[in-house]
Amino acid sequence: MAYKTVNPFNNQLIKEYANHSDAEIEVALTKADALYHSSWSKGDIEQRLTVLHKLADLIDNQQEALAKIASREMGKLIAQSRSEVQLCAQIARYYADNAKTFLAPVKYPSELGEAWVEHHPIGVIMAVEPWNFPYYQLMRVLAPNLAAGNPVLCKHASIVPQCAEAFAHLVREAGAPEGAWTNLFISSDEVSAIIADPRVQGAALTGSEKAGSAVAAQAAKHIKKSTLELGGNDVFIVLDDAHLDKAVEIGVQARLANAGQVCTAAKRFIIHQDIADQFLRKFTDAFRQVKLGDPLDESTTLGPLSSKEALDMLSQQVSEAVQKGAKLHLGGKPAKSEGNFFEPTILTHITRDNPAYFEEFFGPVAQVYVVNNDDEAVRLANDSHYGLGGAIFSRNITRAKQMASRIETGMVWINWLTDTAAELPFGGVKRSGFGRELSDLGIKEFVNQKLVVVRQ
Ligand code: NAP
Repeated sequence: MAYKTVNPFNNQLIKEYANHSDAEIEVALTKADALYHSSWSKGDIEQRLTVLHKLADLIDNQQEALAKIASREMGKLIAQSRSEVQLCAQIARYYADNAKTFLAPVKYPSELGEAWVEHHPIGVIMAVEPWNFPYYQLMRVLAPNLAAGNPVLCKHASIVPQCAEAFAHLVREAGAPEGAWTNLFISSDEVSAIIADPRVQGAALTGSEKAGSAVAAQAAKHIKKSTLELGGNDVFIVLDDAHLDKAVEIGVQARLANAGQVCTAAKRFIIHQDIADQFLRKFTDAFRQVKLGDPLDESTTLGPLSSKEALDMLSQQVSEAVQKGAKLHLGGKPAKSEGNFFEPTILTHITRDNPAYFEEFFGPVAQVYVVNNDDEAVRLANDSHYGLGGAIFSRNITRAKQMASRIETGMVWINWLTDTAAELPFGGVKRSGFGRELSDLGIKEFVNQKLVVVRQ
């Protein structure tokens, strides 16, 4: 059985789940497609927005229970699980309040006649989602698509089945009809077959490049729209005029939140040489103060990685980085005999021929680079296969803005870590994927932007 809950704090198996059968997948597809052709999808948007409002309230009311499921299932610190749940309610409420405006017809002045673009649902969407934000990732797809009228079939990551079920249950409880959101415990091959099915019109994936490439290739083969939210190797640039203590405090948060398992986590710290020694000293001190422990214990500041496989992979990456010439400034190995803990780690002296230079480290491992000037910082930032987010710290906002414009990523934050909110577009360029989620841009990804012209 592929779907199982294993507590990453002690690697104890809690529960296993059977995969859905072919017949169950067919029922799910039939129901979703029927819903798309019904007055639910094609009719008044208000009925769908009412569900989103109700969903937001339900999530708020069940915050603690939902947070505990996530912390037990993938090891997120309980306070961070609560924040994630809260954010989900905000996203549901945001689309409930704004989707009508986003999907309203837009006029296009033209000499050929009265012209406008309408926004219609396109059909069933296949969503494939990762475990690192086990509710938020689902809400990023559910809220805009429910508002737009697209039914969604979702394959969640196999290590978070309880989160997947809890989310699907809430959507139903909020009043969504059967087929609006269906959780499926299925394999990659079954995802592929679903994408090929003529009843499905799009695929949205958040995850690794390997999975993204497989899903987007299948979507392209069958001429279907896809969006990909993939990995990142985000920079955290600290210029010589930055507020140093603030940069250190936020930098630590940017690297260690969610045990470092965030697509937009700060992974490459690029520090101006004039402040590099000071930064590294303070940053190292802060990493040393981290308290590893049970994610459900409020005093813990660093939880375990999500699985034993994730721990092994990170350990191997760090060993290889050091073998190829990187200097281990702090940490560097698994931290406890039980559970998937990895020491807060700092690597320096990483050269371009070291595989670590281009790799995403999905855990509490910071790479520190020192640069002489702004041009060098930009060059290093852009020398990446990824292009997701990034952060710049400087007291000179004009200087930081100029630098932000030169960085090849989908998002840049000045004097803050790469963050997220319902109203802000989220997504990347290069191997970080394509398309945007959240905001007005997110809801336009899977709608038919239909032109109508009345010739006078
Ligand atoms: P992953 O292995 O790609 O898994 C993500 C999802 O894809 C899971 O549901 C997984 O199912 C499924 N999957 C894997 N291979 C597949 C295939 N060939 N066909 C269809 N589905 C497939 O990624 P992960 O390691 O769990 O997640 C971490 C990655 O996600 C990191 O690179 C991170 O940066 C990225 N991420 C990006 C964003 C963003 O918004 N840009 C947000 C969060 C995470 P199983 O679990 O059953 O394998």
